[in-house]
Amino acid sequence: MKELFELYETMGISPAVYAYGEQALEKLKERFAKIDQIAEYNQAKVLSAMQRNRVSAACFAATTGYGYDDVGRDNLERVYADVFHTEAALVRPQITCGTHALTVALAANLLPGDELLSPVGRPYDTLEEVIGIRESPCSLKEYGVSYKQVDLLPDGSFDYEGIEKAITPKTKLVTIQRSKGYAMRPTFSVTQIGELIAFIKNIRSDIICMVDNCYGEFVETQEPSDVGADMVVGSLIKNPGGGLAPIGGYICGTKACISRCSYRLSAPGLGQEVGANLGLMPAFYQGLFLAPTVVAGAEKGAIFAANLYEPLGYRCIPNATESRHDIIQAVELGSEEAMIAFCKGIQAAAPVDSFATPLPWDMPGYENKVIMAAGAFVQGSSIELSADGPIRPPYAVYFQGGLTWCHAKLGILLSLQKLCDAGLTKVIVK
Ligand SMILES: *Cc1c(COP(=O)(O)O)cnc(C)c1O
Repeated sequence: MKELFELYETMGISPAVYAYGEQALEKLKERFAKIDQIAEYNQAKVLSAMQRNRVSAACFAATTGYGYDDVGRDNLERVYADVFHTEAALVRPQITCGTHALTVALAANLLPGDELLSPVGRPYDTLEEVIGIRESPCSLKEYGVSYKQVDLLPDGSFDYEGIEKAITPKTKLVTIQRSKGYAMRPTFSVTQIGELIAFIKNIRSDIICMVDNCYGEFVETQEPSDVGADMVVGSLIKNPGGGLAPIGGYICGTKACISRCSYRLSAPGLGQEVGANLGLMPAFYQGLFLAPTVVAGAEKGAIFAANLYEPLGYRCIPNATESRHDIIQAVELGSEEAMIAFCKGIQAAAPVDSFATPLPWDMPGYENKVIMAAGAFVQGSSIELSADGPIRPPYAVYFQGGLTWCHAKLGILLSLQKLCDAGLTKVIVK
């Protein structure tokens, strides 16, 4: 479209980069149609959960203080439990982020002398301090919870032999991270996670299986709780908040696990009874309602990025053609300079703070300097178009989000434009 192209040109996208993008898109029609089908399924799943639980305007009322008898909050937790097919759910603005949700789930269900096992290698950076892999005040380690890890095999598959050996009578909880996080390993499909859980439960059925579900929600028609997970945990400023939730986290799972989580989050004896919603219910409900289509748009953006960068010689994980199980796209850019250029493009495409320049910075919870591009309505929201990565080899940026596919597309085109402008790559249109 001529007008569109002219408008894009005023926004800094060159004819060559635009044409290169259109060429890549031609090949993606079928894949995008499949993503739309999954979104349609998940939309129906969320809708029917809302209908079954009789969501009404009364659910949107703000509560303050202790928040006793908070109808909207309690019903939202039933809706989440329904969507994730679990007995119970804890969905709260008092859960400040994904790391906090995971900390609550772990600390609530592990006691001194218990052992935590990660059968999928190193966990997400911020969890290293939670667990005590890196010394930290109030880590699980300080409270006498030990930790074991079994790395993935070189081909990215589970080391079943190693996992079986690592499980002892002390093993209380297994943590499975669905998404790759800041590692260059594949993200696991829900089916793969189900196989791993079945293997563990077959050794000892009383081991609690927790899945860090960050970035995975609504990418498939199933969730890890459909394949045996006792707890699934995530952030509301990622997928399930649909871009509208301004804070929050969720834990869905068995009654036994969730009630312990609620006592850990508030206080023993109080549990789920307290916790005012502070007027956030409209955003939580509406965000969940929008989440399936928002996630679909973000996934299209990730696939588009892989299909632009891979032919230029950058390693992409997942690659341009493989199946997807989260909304993250890692692109190995090979240098700090290229990471900065990429992030500049994402930032320049943002609706908020488009004039800012992202630079590498020290971040709490992260060992290396991190660069982040985000011009988000909700600070740090990574369901909104964002890119980040630790400044360390292989200098990979992790690209994710986009509340709409059109915005994701523009951001990726601009990222590539900045790499071209910096003389770091060159596009060729056939
Ligand atoms: C984002 C993320 C977390 C932590 O979430 P925050 O909200 O940043 O604290 C944990 N695990 C994975 C896999 C994540 O992607």
